Amino acid sequence: MIAPAHADLSPRRLLIDGKPVAARDGRTSPTVNPATAEPICEVAQADVADVDLAVRAARRAFDEGPWPRMNAGERGRLLHRLADLMIGHADELAELEAIDAGKPITEARHVDVPFSAEVIEYYGGWASKITGETLPARDESFVYSLREPVGVVGAIVPWNFPLLLAVWKVGPALAAGCTMVVKPSETTPLSMLRVGELALAAGVPPGVLNVVPGPGSSAGDALVRHPGVDKIAFTGSTAVGQEIMRRCADTVKRVTLELGGKSPNVVFADADLDAAARGAVAGIFYNKGEVCAAGSRILVEREVAGELIERMKARAAKLTQGDTLDPKTRLGPQVSQAQLNKVLGWVARGRAEGAKLVLGGERNAEAGPGYFVRPTIFADATNEMAIAQEEIFGPVATVIPFDDLDQALARANGTRYGLAAGVWTRDVKKAHRVARALQAGTVWVNCYNVYDPAASFGGFRQSGFGRELGSAALEGYTERKTVWIDLG
Ligand code: NAD
Repeated sequence: MIAPAHADLSPRRLLIDGKPVAARDGRTSPTVNPATAEPICEVAQADVADVDLAVRAARRAFDEGPWPRMNAGERGRLLHRLADLMIGHADELAELEAIDAGKPITEARHVDVPFSAEVIEYYGGWASKITGETLPARDESFVYSLREPVGVVGAIVPWNFPLLLAVWKVGPALAAGCTMVVKPSETTPLSMLRVGELALAAGVPPGVLNVVPGPGSSAGDALVRHPGVDKIAFTGSTAVGQEIMRRCADTVKRVTLELGGKSPNVVFADADLDAAARGAVAGIFYNKGEVCAAGSRILVEREVAGELIERMKARAAKLTQGDTLDPKTRLGPQVSQAQLNKVLGWVARGRAEGAKLVLGGERNAEAGPGYFVRPTIFADATNEMAIAQEEIFGPVATVIPFDDLDQALARANGTRYGLAAGVWTRDVKKAHRVARALQAGTVWVNCYNVYDPAASFGGFRQSGFGRELGSAALEGYTERKTVWIDLG
């Protein structure tokens, strides 16, 4: 196995009020490299008391500190400096992401880290452009609106894109003048802890960005219940999101939820089949299928189903699995033993349901001692099967044939989710009509899994609500205040 050349593997502490601190009860837990199944380092685990300290620090930084009061342009400059530091430390951050989350280093270095820096930079630009409006209200009044930061934000983040999904919240929240407590997943705390340090080095004042790894049931729950938190921004599973939404009701916290998906990738017979196969493979196997927007249901017009599957198999066979620090690796391990077991359980379920396993379906022990699953394709599935309805969150494609456009749409929209969808066709009218009819927050036409800081992302239906990225994300971190001046 290749040793990291840039990442610091010493034990990590919580980051509260600008300082690394041990957990109050001294608890630590090892974070594990999923490619080797070996521990990387010990990481302090926040509990209720630590979360309380972090929220108090964020509260002070918001109520009394310079962050929400400083010139917005200066906030923007500090965010730009943070983005520069992230790029300056890109090799280190990419290694942390590779060993902690099981991402191929090539992906982490060329996607996760640069895109994260780009998002911070984008919102650095927004800081000085968050404006209110003058309103044409009653003649005897002058009425305008102000947009003010929502306050202290609790951000709860999953393990599949530990840096990127945290930064999608950090960028707009800090640009708006909020302060934050970020709780990374207990499985993948390293990259966000490092970015918290880089924010301090960039000049973001202590207490503005606190980072408290710890279990969801204690640290995450404490953040959701804390009366000092004004808003929860959550990305994770639908089940946990539902629970968080209930809890937020107790203190009427603002909440935005980015939840799961079972996104359809719809391939019509008139598509460029090679491009569609490439998109279908990237859509489900990118980040070993641990992607909320994974194109996990491949709906294909029956007459080209066999051909598409053959092309997908040929491409999937080329996805080299192995050490995530090896630049040749294209497909990493599942993030944990629990996730490996879950994915193999779904494969067994698919077989029992009668779907035809045409590729993979097993652990890949040759790739290493970690949690590798071979790229897996089920053919001849139906939309009613559990493997077509439930989020597997692994490299398992469920291919479902359809006979006409109406059937394709009914099947595409036939789950409780609505996060993303793909459409492959050469017919421009069909592309637009299908894009309009799909119930999803993002529709990709003749492409899949493409993102930009300016393009909002989020769910319909049980995939959540609120939007990340773009100007839309700023709505979730600002309050609108209406001011009436009597002119009568
Ligand atoms: P998860 O819901 O188990 O955990 C997500 C985060 O919530 C973690 O930090 C966890 O510690 C915390 N948490 C768990 N229980 C909690 C509780 N009771 N109170 C407060 N916090 C709690 O999800 P996961 O397994 O880490 O991530 C995978 C899931 O995330 C998948 O379902 C996936 O679809 C979803 N996801 C969605 C998006 C999106 O943008 N829609 C993006 C990535 C992942």
